Amino acid sequence: MKLESLQDLLVHELKDLYSAENQLVKALPKMAKAATNEQLRAGFEEHLAQTKNHVTRLEEIAETLGCKLAGHRCKAMEGLIEEGSELISEDAEDVIRDAALIGAAQRVEHYEIAAYGTARAIAECLGYGDTVRLLNETLDEERATDEKLTELAETSVNVEAADLVAAE
Ligand code: FE
Ligand code: FE
Repeated sequence: MKLESLQDLLVHELKDLYSAENQLVKALPKMAKAATNEQLRAGFEEHLAQTKNHVTRLEEIAETLGCKLAGHRCKAMEGLIEEGSELISEDAEDVIRDAALIGAAQRVEHYEIAAYGTARAIAECLGYGDTVRLLNETLDEERATDEKLTELAETSVNVEAADLVAAE
């Protein structure tokens, strides 16, 4: 696909996000299964439901813009998920694996936040109000997820993980 206009770049960004979100829909159940901390597991499940909705929002946007989103593979998300699954398969103490899972999940959220921020800025520049609104809704959920993960790490998972070391 030749990128001749800012509109073309927006479609390219949306295709990348569409692939990223669809890959995440497949990865999140595995992350939930690997989590020991109950809040972390529930958080992954909640974000799975949100992520399915992110896919739907992108489809709505594509309909508004009259473009197709299939047929592109987001290699960055592929890599982030690959690293996450490598971590899951490590021989680790449960709470340490949870701490690692939070780090992997936050890498994913930060990638999405950057990509949605870029797409939103482009859509804003082009004056696509409906697209901006939909991208914003998702962006807010990605940010909230990231903040929840930080809080969970700081208030419980990392604290418990640190105690584990102290006990030995
Ligand atoms: Fe998402
Ligand atoms: Fe997300």
